[in-house]
Amino acid sequence: MANPLYDTLFGAHAGRDTPFLYLEDDKVLTHSAFLAMTARFAHVFADLGAQPGDRLAVQIEKSPEALAIYAACIQAGIVFLPLNTAYTADEVSYFVENSGARILVCDPANSERLAPVATAADAVLETLSGDGSGSLPLKAQAQSDRFDTAPRTADDLAAFLYTSGTTGRSKGAMLTQTNLLSNAQVLADYWQFTDRDLLLHALPIFHTHGLFVATNITLIAGGAMIFLPRFDPDRIIAEMPRATSMMGVPTFYTRLLDDPRFTRDLAAHMRLFVSGSAPLLAETHVQFQNRTGHRILERYGMTETNMNTSNPYAGERRAGTVGFPLPGVELKITDPATGETLADGEVGQIEVRGPNVFAGYWQMPEKTREELRQDGFFITGDLGKIDDRGYVHIVGRNKDLIISGGYNIYPKEIELVLDEQPGVLESAVIGVPHPDFGETVVGVLVPDGASVPDVSAISAAVGQSLARFKHPRKLVIVPELPRNTMGKVQKNLLRAQFAGMFQ
Ligand code: ATP
Ligand code: MG
Repeated sequence: MANPLYDTLFGAHAGRDTPFLYLEDDKVLTHSAFLAMTARFAHVFADLGAQPGDRLAVQIEKSPEALAIYAACIQAGIVFLPLNTAYTADEVSYFVENSGARILVCDPANSERLAPVATAADAVLETLSGDGSGSLPLKAQAQSDRFDTAPRTADDLAAFLYTSGTTGRSKGAMLTQTNLLSNAQVLADYWQFTDRDLLLHALPIFHTHGLFVATNITLIAGGAMIFLPRFDPDRIIAEMPRATSMMGVPTFYTRLLDDPRFTRDLAAHMRLFVSGSAPLLAETHVQFQNRTGHRILERYGMTETNMNTSNPYAGERRAGTVGFPLPGVELKITDPATGETLADGEVGQIEVRGPNVFAGYWQMPEKTREELRQDGFFITGDLGKIDDRGYVHIVGRNKDLIISGGYNIYPKEIELVLDEQPGVLESAVIGVPHPDFGETVVGVLVPDGASVPDVSAISAAVGQSLARFKHPRKLVIVPELPRNTMGKVQKNLLRAQFAGMFQ
């Protein structure tokens, strides 16, 4: 095939007047209309001088046009680089310069702020707003709706995706055509997606979850999406009766459970709810099952690898686990000090290898060498274990590991105990500097709203169930945990907030 990713995801739908995107106000975009829009954008990019292998950065609202830019990049062989809409001009400037993007597409509302950024980076600036207007669609109007697909090989780069920056500065992960294609194929099959699927899409499309997992799977299966600009419970509840599937971050599910309109009847037509990007509380899994009869299917992945593991579609979906390595993905738990593989049940660093694993960090050869082994295994930065039935459990991030008085302490173990205490909605356990122990354990609690957590009773309860060195030296109550747009708890912010507590 001339361009495996384009041909499989997009080209396969040429000439099909089947629905692809269901939009607001009963509008429907068919596959062929989407491909025509794609071709017109590809012509504009070529006219602007973009060559295969060049980078194109976007910081735009979610819209069908935004998705067509992704498709146009793949068709023209341009490396697609979507940026979080929350980034400031300074942050965008870093990504545009760092990636050497030739074209930057932004929202018209930001064009004045980003014009100097584009100029400094020698990039062309075009605009696209959430309603589909802007300089780019204007230029596209006069273009042909056919574009000669640029030939690409399986190892050519398809996208740069910057990591979420939860543990430090975001890194640009170089993803090849094979990385994206192999994962889409495996997941569509594993989760049994077909052309009869109608996916509720409320995730952002600048992140692997909404862009590659949700969108690529739908494309490869030939199904359609109800394409919502954002997570809005009213819209989700209105659309769910005709949908078959949804992908979400854990906060989607807790927010739905908070809504009395979200009932078993409402979810009766759905066949699959998938969760990922952050840990789903076992309690949410159970509540969801009690409410709807559905067991949320949790999976585990990251920017650098797409998806690595998943709970089974047909077998038991185990709450608090991320399931099994996907077909074609090898996963092992290793000793962080020696790199040796550990026995099942032991906690260590999670390493993965497979066609889904990225080609390295853009212009970061040292970081790439540190995390991507010569033999192809990628050191994910997450800690976990494999249980006696082969299910993978995530224990937390390596960087969140607390070392106190020489002991390794895994925050998750303590969080699980804290979460069960009366009056506690959720918790985050962090290590903060301590003069005697190096680091010590602090538990940050969020009240459930119904009652106020009794800190001394909770300390006593923790004393019953955990070894002494794991006891939080202090429990603090906060109204909510700091989270980024993907629902990830930002422990670095909590560590900074409480850094001076014992000094
Ligand atoms: P950075 O690498 O810049 O610090 P990040 O790792 O948060 O940011 P992403 O690639 O968006 O950026 O997120 C991947 C991480 O999300 C994983 O390494 C893991 O820690 C977490 N994650 C994803 N899915 C799950 C899950 N089901 N359960 C627990 N954690 C998950
Ligand atoms: Mg990461």
